Amino acid sequence: MSELFTSLGLLQEQPGGCFSSTAWTSTAGAGVVESRNPSNGAVLGRVYACSDADYTMLVDGVSQRQVSWRQVPAPKRGEVIRLIGQALRENKDALGTLVSLEVGKIKAEGDGEVQEMIDMADFAVGLSRMLYGQTMHSERPRHRMYEQWHPLGVVGVITAFNFPVAVWAWNAFIAAVAGNTVLWKPSPKVPLCALAVHHLCNRVLDDAGYPGVFALLTTDRIDLADRMIRDERLPLISFTGSVPVGRHVAEVVGHRLGRSLLELSGNNAVIVDETADLELATRAIVFGAVGTAGQRCTSTRRVIVHELHYAELVSRLRGAYAQVRIGDPLAPDVLMGPLIDALAVARYQAALEAVIQAGGEVLFGGHVLPGPGHFVEPTIVRAHHDWDIVQQETFAPILYVMTFRTLDEAIHMQNAVPQGLSSALFTQHLRHSETFLSAMGSDCGIANINIGTSGAEIGGAFGGEKTTGGGREAGSDAWKAYMRRQTTTINWGTELPLAQGVRFGRAEGGDHDGTSV
Ligand code: NAD
Repeated sequence: MSELFTSLGLLQEQPGGCFSSTAWTSTAGAGVVESRNPSNGAVLGRVYACSDADYTMLVDGVSQRQVSWRQVPAPKRGEVIRLIGQALRENKDALGTLVSLEVGKIKAEGDGEVQEMIDMADFAVGLSRMLYGQTMHSERPRHRMYEQWHPLGVVGVITAFNFPVAVWAWNAFIAAVAGNTVLWKPSPKVPLCALAVHHLCNRVLDDAGYPGVFALLTTDRIDLADRMIRDERLPLISFTGSVPVGRHVAEVVGHRLGRSLLELSGNNAVIVDETADLELATRAIVFGAVGTAGQRCTSTRRVIVHELHYAELVSRLRGAYAQVRIGDPLAPDVLMGPLIDALAVARYQAALEAVIQAGGEVLFGGHVLPGPGHFVEPTIVRAHHDWDIVQQETFAPILYVMTFRTLDEAIHMQNAVPQGLSSALFTQHLRHSETFLSAMGSDCGIANINIGTSGAEIGGAFGGEKTTGGGREAGSDAWKAYMRRQTTTINWGTELPLAQGVRFGRAEGGDHDGTSV
């Protein structure tokens, strides 16, 4: 482990765990944030936390840096992100291992997360030459109108534990090519991943002559997180996490008329209709429900299967679940690691108790495995869609199965939850597929056909509707959330015609000329 830490710049005793402007802070008296290995409970490392004074220094630093960074041409900013992508490629194995160690996801998923950062870097490089504004024809002669996009300033990024590096990259790389600097508050459950990413990026930024574009706030203090979302110097807070905290962030940021970009909980369903390829559906459901031990926002939590296929699908799922090896996420054959902590295990147990109480039938699993580590069995339960517990996101590998007769009924069940992140239909029926994708179909931000709910590509805009928060990140035109739009009209003539034909100041024939906005 020490070799891994050294290669990622983590081993040395450094006096502070927050990065401001050009240096790590020197605070050693504000407590520590402890990182624990969820597979065995051992302490992986302790990171010095930020003090209140550090917070002030961090925001001052990143605000000052933004003034010079926004003047760097966007393609040059993109070049710096290209170099960061290169550094990530060189460190993919080590960083992927650290993600696996600290979060408990299997090594392939840890590496996959770093690959997602690399993909985001590539995307951001291209984007740095494509921050297009539109031009439009003015109704006035010798006038030109166009839109241009400017950076917002300092973007605050708050991330969840389960994607400890990729989600920051989704935000930070786009925000940076757009000309913003970034203050990141990672989840206190995974401080080492954030530290490693910052070491890596700052080395590149220093070498390229642009230090301090990214700042890091390490804390487990709610009041310091709260100070961040209330801070008017952060025009945008991009928040990834649970609905209750996201709601609080939206209220606080909304109150100061700032912008928030929310990526919150999902309660994602796979519909399997009477024409579905059951082999395909089974593989997608197992990956979606068991991958990352059910701790993805896009994890499959509900299966809505046509009653004709219920018995067959459940039998296939049971067979596949029985093959899932649970254990050390770094071991080669393991497919499912632990939950993040004891609280997550308690929530898994509470959800099972609630669903059994409601009348649910456990079809597979349902047990907590003996420690050390926070391991549970992946679980399948026959349930009803409108039970309270089925309406909630339990961040654990519990899959609720229910049946339907008509597609309309299935779509109704799929949509009848508060969340609206990801959805999927397995079908070979063109009309079913088109119905599901139409305005009468899925109400989610992501709607897939013959692909599961999890594992989105970065090229599309990622996010969900309803209580998932409405945010969009990563690809497509998600970059617009990190910029402000300016509409410009240039008069290159010698007259001053007003819009809407308004004449002002020289009323003729007693007409009253109105004013226009
Ligand atoms: P969480 O809501 O407990 O914490 C998320 C972040 O919010 C952490 O950094 C935490 O320290 C911070 N936080 C806590 N209180 C705060 C406050 N008052 N002000 C500001 N920040 C505060 O979520 P979690 O347990 O880390 O992550 C799991 C949740 O995240 C799940 O609900 C999952 O669906 C969601 N998630 C969503 C997406 C998405 O893209 N939609 C991606 C990953 C995770």
